[in-house]
Amino acid sequence: MTHTIQAWPRPLPQIDRDHAEWWAGLARHELLVQECPRCKALTFPPEPACPACRSLERGWRRSSGRGRVFSWVVVRRASHPYFADKVPYAVVLVAMDEGFRVVGSFEGPLDALCDGLPVEVGFDDVNDEVTLMRFRRVG
Ligand SMILES: [Zn+2]
Repeated sequence: MTHTIQAWPRPLPQIDRDHAEWWAGLARHELLVQECPRCKALTFPPEPACPACRSLERGWRRSSGRGRVFSWVVVRRASHPYFADKVPYAVVLVAMDEGFRVVGSFEGPLDALCDGLPVEVGFDDVNDEVTLMRFRRVG
């Protein structure tokens, strides 16, 4: 009996209580950022307390979904069999217009990647619970 690499299920995140609201936003195709109701600091990834003022109040702001590539890596060796036929691919660190940074996959030709490339978020609905984000070049 032979197994193909397609037999491997996609590895998916564990959604815990601190991040549930953020994942629910992605499921609605909204990129949320934690915004402290007290001092307005933006925190990503979400945390139980505001790192700036330690407030336990949590609020959220919907991001424009637009930003610029701050850095990236090109993955050439799959870290899991699911990704074996997907390499090479890029993971980008994006400086969002609101001032926080977020990590996501990059959709598009790898040779288009450059410092400051304008990008916008897109959404992949994987199942009822999990939506993943990816970034694509604007224009
Ligand atoms: Zn705060």
